[in-house]
Amino acid sequence: MSDLTSRTEEVPAEWQGLGGRGLTSNVVAAEVDPTCHPLGKHNKLVIAPGLLSGTPAANSGRLSCGAKSPLTGTIKEANSGGSSAQMLAKLGVKALIIEGKPQEDKWYGLQVSAEGVTIKEETEVVGKGNYEVVQVLNSRLGEKFGVITIGPAGEMKMSAANISIKDPGSRIRSSGRGGLGAVMGSKKIKFIAVEPTDKKVDIAKPEEFTAANRAFAKALVDNPISQALGQYGTNVLVNIINESGGLPTRNFTAGQFAGHEEISGETMHDTIVARGGKPKHNCHAGCVINCSQLYNDKDNKYLTSGFEYESIWAMGADCCVDNLDHIAEADHLLDDLGLDTIETLVAFGVAMEAGVLEFGDGAGICQILREEIGKGTPLGRIIGGGAANVGRTFGVTRVPVVKNQAIPAYDPRAIKGIGITYATSTQGADHTMGYTIATNILGVGGKLDPLSKEGQVELSRNLQIATAAIDSTGMCLFVAFAALDDATCLPALIDMINARFGIGLGADDVTNLGMSILKTERAFNIAAGFTSQDDRLPEFFKEEPIAPHNVVWDIDDKTIDSFWDF
Ligand code: SF4
Repeated sequence: MSDLTSRTEEVPAEWQGLGGRGLTSNVVAAEVDPTCHPLGKHNKLVIAPGLLSGTPAANSGRLSCGAKSPLTGTIKEANSGGSSAQMLAKLGVKALIIEGKPQEDKWYGLQVSAEGVTIKEETEVVGKGNYEVVQVLNSRLGEKFGVITIGPAGEMKMSAANISIKDPGSRIRSSGRGGLGAVMGSKKIKFIAVEPTDKKVDIAKPEEFTAANRAFAKALVDNPISQALGQYGTNVLVNIINESGGLPTRNFTAGQFAGHEEISGETMHDTIVARGGKPKHNCHAGCVINCSQLYNDKDNKYLTSGFEYESIWAMGADCCVDNLDHIAEADHLLDDLGLDTIETLVAFGVAMEAGVLEFGDGAGICQILREEIGKGTPLGRIIGGGAANVGRTFGVTRVPVVKNQAIPAYDPRAIKGIGITYATSTQGADHTMGYTIATNILGVGGKLDPLSKEGQVELSRNLQIATAAIDSTGMCLFVAFAALDDATCLPALIDMINARFGIGLGADDVTNLGMSILKTERAFNIAAGFTSQDDRLPEFFKEEPIAPHNVVWDIDDKTIDSFWDF
């Protein structure tokens, strides 16, 4: 972006076996100075489809975005559905590496085709929300183009800004965490359009690939958790996590929310059906689980989609809003502004504790999103800077973050495995890095008492290693439920990778890939100045018992640090 040029490079031999997070993290680790300013010219934004993206493999359309994070200061990868991963892979693009910063204060749009990348000055959609950007580009370029975009929050370089990806229905999917939208904004890129193509991804052994994909898709469809996700979406978890006593409520002061029924997956499902929405829907072509949904407002008009448990929890239980329509309206606004729902809504919980607005004030949250964050007022920029930013500004001590990133929808005092993941993740608090809820609460891949200290490090470690590998394939993380419980699933996934590339990986190779990614990411963080002292939960978790179990975070530092003994 410094001289507004692009070039195409062959993939170096050592990166040929990588995709998705494995590739973004390796490129960032190799090419970005760990001590650089995340919004300066030395940071790079890397965008990569997964190893299986663009093939007919079920659930393989995730797109990884990576950079040094302006929120955490660590290495970061955030992935999302939408159409662009499959389109980039079909164009033969292994990764886009965006470097430098323009000399002039102008905005640009990028267009990716089989011939390469063009960079043009952009004025029409600057300042516009993501939904309008997508509509304008649909008219300008055609609906079949892929779109990767930032909203006003990314333009304003807010640390909670995400990167948004257009899905097949021209709705918004989000690479949510870590402020990567601010990195894209710092490079003055409003959008990246991806040209549609009739090309197909090469598959070395097509018949073996088809057979493996059939077995893989069957394992996904047959899995009971997949089926529950298809019926109620991820929001099936509100009642389950509330029952466990691990639903963080009122800025993490309790583990159960009195209004849980009003915001539950079951209520959401019935509301969607009554208003003529769609309870079952997917974020990209080829998904067989369909955890997404189209949620309509009271007038039966489309309001939001991809209405996730973590977003609903953050405004629901954490901010005590028991009105699903207010939460859906905020979800729409957050998607349009291009903000991570978890970071921003946890920031609102901290702001409520500071007295900026009352707990339960859903209309007040929507008002601040529109009038303060959307317009970039000082209060809007403080909240758009994330939960830690709000805590520092208002002198709040109960600030649920690790490495500056907001802790999501599972309380680590009542579900201890996820606390290990929050503490040790290379990317700040993030449930998706090692989703111990599977085993701690859902009984997937065995059962481990969430309140016990025993075995949580091993559980988190195994899941973080597996997740790093899955994030490299382009697979949606929800394949993990079947992979943990169905003996046919993981071998079928490995068979697909082998058939795609004509290679012979085994299960150990997948584990080694996951370990190598984690070690690469951690080495970057250490070089950036992070130490084991950063792998800690906030002190209030150790001192404030959470009802109903009245437990504190009681896993000692030495045990946490043993996570890295591999
Ligand atoms: S299961 Fe959900 S997140 Fe995963 S690919 Fe399908 S719709 Fe997207």
